[in-house]
Amino acid sequence: MIRVAGLIQESIADGPGIRFVIFTQGCPHHCPGCHNPQTQCLQGGTLMSAEEILEQIRKNPLLSGVTFSGGEPFLQAEELLPIARECHRLGLDVVTYSGWTFEKLIEAHRPEWNSLIAESDIIVDGPFMQELRSYQTRFRGSSNQRLVNVALSLLMHTVHTIS
Ligand code: SF4
Repeated sequence: MIRVAGLIQESIADGPGIRFVIFTQGCPHHCPGCHNPQTQCLQGGTLMSAEEILEQIRKNPLLSGVTFSGGEPFLQAEELLPIARECHRLGLDVVTYSGWTFEKLIEAHRPEWNSLIAESDIIVDGPFMQELRSYQTRFRGSSNQRLVNVALSLLMHTVHTIS
């Protein structure tokens, strides 16, 4: 079961195109100025199965992709994997947010993290930094955060970003 803070059926603010957004519950980063402080508690939210969420995703033919936001999605990497895999099978792309940098996620060498990294087309990485808050950076809250092109970064063994 996935501990969910909330769902948005259609968003244009959480990645390219029209996206279904899953806000996961629970975050260890505690960024000052966090936009979603209610998602930090590890025990809050609602438990939902991957299939319950997929049913909602399949109903909307207008979606271009699905976004895992938070909270910290990597805390529930294993639980999110079936959704990411099914989305790819359906032709949808996957954007995953994380308060950890791409380098930290890779360096952790956690199999379930590696799997979620591999099932993400874009990872929006790094903590929200109040002093770098920006309204110019697409899909990000602060300018330290990057849109990481995951396939290219894994292939080249160095981070490649999308502007
Ligand atoms: S990573 Fe996101 S949800 Fe977690 S504390 Fe930072 S801004 Fe809030």
